[in-house]
Amino acid sequence: MEPGYVTLYHSGELERRAQALDARLASCDICPRECRVNRLKNELGYCHSGCLPIVSAVCAHRGEEPVISGTRGSGTVFFGNCNMRCVYCQNYQISQNWKKQRSNEMDCRTLAEKMLYLQDGLGCHNINFVSPSHFIPKLLRAVAEAVPLGLRVPLVYNSNGYDSIASLKELDGVISVYLPDLRYASDRWAKKFSHAPYYVARARQAIKEMYRQVGDLVIDESGLAKKGLIVRHLILPNGLAGSEESLTWLVRELSPTVTVSIMSQYIPMHRASRVPLLSRKITSEEHEAVFKLIADLGIENGWVQEMGAAEEYLPDFERKGHPFSPESSQNDIPTRSATN
Ligand code: SF4
Repeated sequence: MEPGYVTLYHSGELERRAQALDARLASCDICPRECRVNRLKNELGYCHSGCLPIVSAVCAHRGEEPVISGTRGSGTVFFGNCNMRCVYCQNYQISQNWKKQRSNEMDCRTLAEKMLYLQDGLGCHNINFVSPSHFIPKLLRAVAEAVPLGLRVPLVYNSNGYDSIASLKELDGVISVYLPDLRYASDRWAKKFSHAPYYVARARQAIKEMYRQVGDLVIDESGLAKKGLIVRHLILPNGLAGSEESLTWLVRELSPTVTVSIMSQYIPMHRASRVPLLSRKITSEEHEAVFKLIADLGIENGWVQEMGAAEEYLPDFERKGHPFSPESSQNDIPTRSATN
């Protein structure tokens, strides 16, 4: 069966949506911050991103959830910069280093060609857009460029959850799998540690919209995600992630059949070692408490990362080749700078 974005391409709807999103860049409201800068003229808002997409790494990623990575890897496109500023960000080398990231600007045609290489050259099961919230217009434009080149694999939207509903609506029928974070249940901590005002309401509304579009996770006969929602929740030390409140909300307000991915890989990266509440890994008691919560809430779909998973999932975007594994460097795709 043809993916939805191919049908939308042939009907002209993909182009209409790409144009509508591009027009919004003139007074940017692409994410909940609504900075209102003119990104078409390369004015910079909170995300420090102009008109062109910034693509910091492209690779076959084998460390995602099993239904996403499969046997051949998920074709991952890491966008540079971010609309949040988590003090513990494990991708801080590309998310909070905007001066350097300017050199990773790329035109949409080149990004489309990279997607095709992930699909055909590396045989990846899907295209996985990581941190796409501030680049939705160019994500859609690149997909429109990639369809006539032969793009056919499912698309995965892998975000921090701080997404605009209006922008997500333009992805309806385009994205097969939504993979958002639900990081906090407290706006106080979201503001203090991620500089994201009203995160709780924004992320919950976004997750509701994602679920409206794709529903529960559907897995094909080979064990790969065909469509659906997977909500990621990173356990933070000292209860800062509000695991009980967030997981209870998911089950009671979204769906008792929701698929969750509990991540135990927290490590005090970036500036977190200087923040007392965030300066250590999680304890086995904290891990066990979330495990028990999953059982108490009757959550049956998803994964819980083992304790000790911390280091093996950490990327290094300054390593030459693949950010996750030097052995996999043959999968790396060199990026090319663009001028327009
Ligand atoms: S995408 Fe960037 S410029 Fe636009 S509203 Fe969000 S942070 Fe501001």
